[in-house]
Amino acid sequence: MDYQAVLEEVAAYARPLVRQGRVADYIPALERVSADRFGIAVADIHGAVHGVGDWEVPFSVQSISKAFSLALVMAQSPGSQGEDGIWKRVGREPSGTPFNSLVQLEAENGIPRNPFINAGALVVTDRLQTLTGDASTSMLHFLREESGNPDLAFDQAVADSEAEHGDRNAALAHFMASFGNLENPVPSVIEHYFWQCSIEMSCRDLAVAGGFLARHGLRADGSRLLEAREAKRINAVMLTCGTYDAAGEFAYRVGLPAKSGVGGGIIAVIPGRCTLCVWSPGLDARGNSVAGAAALDHFTTLTGWSVF
Ligand code: GLU
Repeated sequence: MDYQAVLEEVAAYARPLVRQGRVADYIPALERVSADRFGIAVADIHGAVHGVGDWEVPFSVQSISKAFSLALVMAQSPGSQGEDGIWKRVGREPSGTPFNSLVQLEAENGIPRNPFINAGALVVTDRLQTLTGDASTSMLHFLREESGNPDLAFDQAVADSEAEHGDRNAALAHFMASFGNLENPVPSVIEHYFWQCSIEMSCRDLAVAGGFLARHGLRADGSRLLEAREAKRINAVMLTCGTYDAAGEFAYRVGLPAKSGVGGGIIAVIPGRCTLCVWSPGLDARGNSVAGAAALDHFTTLTGWSVF
């Protein structure tokens, strides 16, 4: 496969769409990013990386971090697929509601539908905090190691801005705490959640760091992070829940496990082959990058490499 040629063609197809979306404006630190950015990278399972456009420009990972926090919790909780693991506290069903929605929590006793809506991610961060004593720093260290980029860092302005506009996430956390579904104090859980969302990474960094999902749980150095079945499970939840309340539409178009973030990034996994990351800040009404989703759609159409 001539990855470079495919990526050039994908970029030519998707780049004209960058202005069709709307850059996230719920915090000023994200609103300032230019809508014209577009980058895409692919990292194959053997470590070769290709990219085009703004593929080496760091952006705010936002909800893409949710895939990594879930992986770290599963990696550190033997038997995490069983009754005693994280799955007692968070479900695995698509929510069909916006990422920051409160509505299902009351009827479902403070158990979020899945780990990729905010409520579910807060539970996962809470668990990671218990397991590591410092959820966001342990994630940053993991991402530095896995991406091979020691310069990865939190974006203080984004984290502060999230905290300043964090009433909804605080409400979700308090509500779950009232059902006994948080182990740590609410302020510490939301703080670590905001920090992890604020990490800045490029398409290159994210495609490389997400390689373990394509390598059935093996890290870049060949050591095992997750059992193959755990990697399969994370990929399955990404496919069904990873792109907000548009996961069905995304699976229909792209046919890959994926996790998006409101910074405009999307990572996508082709198990056994490669991990992709695309970035373009213009979002559709559901919060997914317009040009990013189109690029992944075109990539799987050109290569025939969807999971279907
Ligand atoms: N930090 C964002 C929030 O919790 C994440 C949003 C996202 O990327 O989905 O509101």
